[in-house]
Amino acid sequence: MERLATKAARLGRCFASSSRKPSTATVLRASVTFSSGAATAAATAAGAAAMVAYSSAVSKAETAADIPEDARQGTHHIKGSNGKTVMFRNPYPSAGVGFDSPFQVAGKFLWMRINGEMSSPDVSRVKIPTVKPVFPTSRAGSSAALRATWLGHACYLVEFPGGLRVLFDPVFEDRCGPKGWLGPKRYTPPPCSLAELPPVDAVVISHSHYDHLSHMSVCELARRNPDAHFFVGLGLEKWFRSSGITNVTELDWWQDADLVLTRKDQGEGGNAKSSSAAADPDTITARISCLPSQHTSARTARDKDTTLWASWAVRSGGKSVWFGGDTGYRNVPRLPADVDDYGPAYDSLPRCPQFREIGERRGPFDLGLIPIGAYKPRELFSWMHANPYDAVEIFKDTRCRRAMGIHWGTWALTVEDIDEPPKMLREALRRSGLPETGVFDVCAAGESREF
Ligand SMILES: [Zn+2]
Repeated sequence: MERLATKAARLGRCFASSSRKPSTATVLRASVTFSSGAATAAATAAGAAAMVAYSSAVSKAETAADIPEDARQGTHHIKGSNGKTVMFRNPYPSAGVGFDSPFQVAGKFLWMRINGEMSSPDVSRVKIPTVKPVFPTSRAGSSAALRATWLGHACYLVEFPGGLRVLFDPVFEDRCGPKGWLGPKRYTPPPCSLAELPPVDAVVISHSHYDHLSHMSVCELARRNPDAHFFVGLGLEKWFRSSGITNVTELDWWQDADLVLTRKDQGEGGNAKSSSAAADPDTITARISCLPSQHTSARTARDKDTTLWASWAVRSGGKSVWFGGDTGYRNVPRLPADVDDYGPAYDSLPRCPQFREIGERRGPFDLGLIPIGAYKPRELFSWMHANPYDAVEIFKDTRCRRAMGIHWGTWALTVEDIDEPPKMLREALRRSGLPETGVFDVCAAGESREF
């Protein structure tokens, strides 16, 4: 713990020194509307939320009956000679053959760049709107709605009506890479610091890639929220324990865990009786489900696909969220730029069937948090990163009633223009016969919406 505290203290200094200079770039306004009314009136500035401690207990649920047969057989596990799982794989043709290593992807990417087939997006041209998030002063909240706040890229804080707070894929650093100086640099700063978040009960991690799992951010969260529980895919629990985080549960696809939070006795004259937190519930329960996605994992040159990537469902207080994390949907071949890969000629390209299974067996969901960015060039990334057309299909398959776009607007991971994903999302919604706004939206970094 001493080592953890030292790292956390260093991290605190790291955050304190980050600057947020105002930019003169065009602020992206399209399809971004700002929350108002009840949500804002009942909320307080970031960091001012009252503190009531809860202890947490997690139990893995008995294997649910409603699991697809191939998942029951573990077709996504690759076994070693001793019969134990040593790696994971995408079990469906929709993932294509992929590439053997991240270095081969990087090599092809570099070759296309040298050939002049790709140019980096101009991140100074457009500015993603950013607002300071506000959070309710107590867990009781203002309504029976689910409240979701985008904290940039794939990170969302979701506050459930029953009082549960879940943080998905927190990465608050400037760069997403193995070192502080290595990896893509943010063009949109985090809308707040980790210190400004209200107490968090559960942290859910989709996979090990650096733009979704940050050692510094999870250590800082564990230090600030000692009772918070971390939920990860198979193989990642060891990494958390070696990082000093012991409140961690790893799950396989289609496995569920039950989380029970019990309010700690605040004692005579304690915080509970003297603040607005008096309304906070005594007990909070949640069902956390690990579900499939089509992706990959790695943090080093030697650990490719040794930890499981996943999407997640969380149900609590009568509301449900499906977090897509990072996923592809189809594997699209190299095509001329003006060819539509959702045109009739490409109808036969296999789609990942797992999202329909998720919708049928675990849906519907009140809110989907679905990736829409990091998709160009399509022939390199489609199998692992959805574009907005894929995202709308995933939205329909998973039976989400509403959705918000994630995995865009923060780091330039690929070559599409940084304001292209929300524009393409509206086209995809229109083509699907859905309203362009109000169903599957994007929002400002730091903005909260209710569902
Ligand atoms: Zn990833």
